[in-house]
Amino acid sequence: MPKRLYIETVGCQMNMLDSELVVASLRKAGYALVDSPAKADTILFNTCSVRQHAEDKIYSALGRLKHAKKHNPNKIIGVLGCMAQKDQKQIFERAPYVDLVVGPGQLHQIPSLLARIEQGDGQQLEVSLDRKAASREEIERSFESYDPLRDPAMRPTPFQAFVRIMIGCDKFCTYCIVPSVRGPEQSRAPEEIIAEARQLADEGCREITLLGQTVNSYKYSSGGVTTRLSDLLERLHEIEGIARLKFVTNYPKDMSDDLILAIRDLPKVSRYLHVPAQSGSNRMLSRMKRGYTVEDYREMLARVRATIPDVAVTSDFIVGFCGETEDDFQETVDLVGESRFKNSFIFKYSERPGTKSAQLFPDDVPEDVKRRRNNELLAVQNAISEEDNLPLVGREVEVLVEGPSKNAARRHDHDGEQLQLVGRTHCDRIVVFDGNRRQIGQLLPIAVYDANAFTLFGSVVTRHVGPEVYSL
Ligand code: SAM
Ligand code: SF4
Repeated sequence: MPKRLYIETVGCQMNMLDSELVVASLRKAGYALVDSPAKADTILFNTCSVRQHAEDKIYSALGRLKHAKKHNPNKIIGVLGCMAQKDQKQIFERAPYVDLVVGPGQLHQIPSLLARIEQGDGQQLEVSLDRKAASREEIERSFESYDPLRDPAMRPTPFQAFVRIMIGCDKFCTYCIVPSVRGPEQSRAPEEIIAEARQLADEGCREITLLGQTVNSYKYSSGGVTTRLSDLLERLHEIEGIARLKFVTNYPKDMSDDLILAIRDLPKVSRYLHVPAQSGSNRMLSRMKRGYTVEDYREMLARVRATIPDVAVTSDFIVGFCGETEDDFQETVDLVGESRFKNSFIFKYSERPGTKSAQLFPDDVPEDVKRRRNNELLAVQNAISEEDNLPLVGREVEVLVEGPSKNAARRHDHDGEQLQLVGRTHCDRIVVFDGNRRQIGQLLPIAVYDANAFTLFGSVVTRHVGPEVYSL
């Protein structure tokens, strides 16, 4: 009987990748994945600490398991990832029935830690060093990147994959917990990245998304040679089978010209950039210690658009940061209004214990004001997203088909079944259309017939190779 594993993942793409790799290693150790905690012998939560809300969700999920654990003490409950690194043994204090706490730098140890728990060795805690606890080298070593050999069967879609190119962050934006829980910035060797991408391509992967907290700060030096993200893209571009290359998340100040030119000149690289601005107010940007002014951001955007006119840019914003006035907020509204982002992710400021802003500034914008600003900014962004999607109606776009749409209405249940599919354009626009299962993983031309702020609706273009009719 295989052991049954349930895993729940919250947070960013980095966590999704970590979960995929943990599941793959546990499958090799004899576990089978199940779809509910009730069916599982081992329940793992891969967690996020970026906002309080993400942590609350995990603590309440843990609360719901208290009873199950009492009934079945052999059930193993584990907390992985950023919250594990942040709260460490406090997790055992708040939920004493948790068996395992593992930080993002120790994920490779999970199979052996689970074996120890099964042997009766009790609760297991493995986390990295705090950022001020030792020398940089020692701290770096304690955050081990987890990139074992890939297995296509473990990915939600075998033709798409995330590839980590760096871990950690050294920017220390005052509001952000990431540098503490993900450790120092460390770039992976290009040879390792290219070997992983080659393997993925051999296994049928078409699209690779490179991951890093500040992915465009990627830099790897060895033997007097420095590899930048633009160099890496050039080398990845040569891999046969790979059709699309994306990378997230970009740091505005590190948007260098060599990278912009690489995006322009390498057709496999998506003309899509996620470059969070966070605020349109210089006062807020300086308090956030983002390292640029709104003028710098505008200049960066103008440079990108001058070189790649059809680029789609997306952004993140924090509203209600400490001391944000209506005037500061209005400057953010103005920036969103003029920048014509494809879309923006908008977050209400959430104070994170241990960060500089938690120490320095009171969290003084009331919750209802944060909520109102969030809604207002979203309305401005959504109006722009819709306006910029509408001109695509009547045009043809190329879509990588990802799979059935969430509410796929299945109309026939046989081989030629028609179902609603979802895919993305090269610049990351979501497209919904009718098709069949065999089209999943293909690049297809789609004629767009409708659009709203979030989605394009279309139909597959069938090409006629004429002449089709011969006179007898
Ligand atoms: N490294 C990326 C960057 O610099 O943009 C993303 C890091 S974070 C996981 C994703 C987004 O969460 C950030 O861009 C920021 O907008 C938001 N965020 C981070 N800390 C936050 C906080 N304390 N409260 C609210 N939003 C936060
Ligand atoms: Fe957090 Fe700033 Fe690093 Fe992004 S760049 S992970 S927001 S500290």
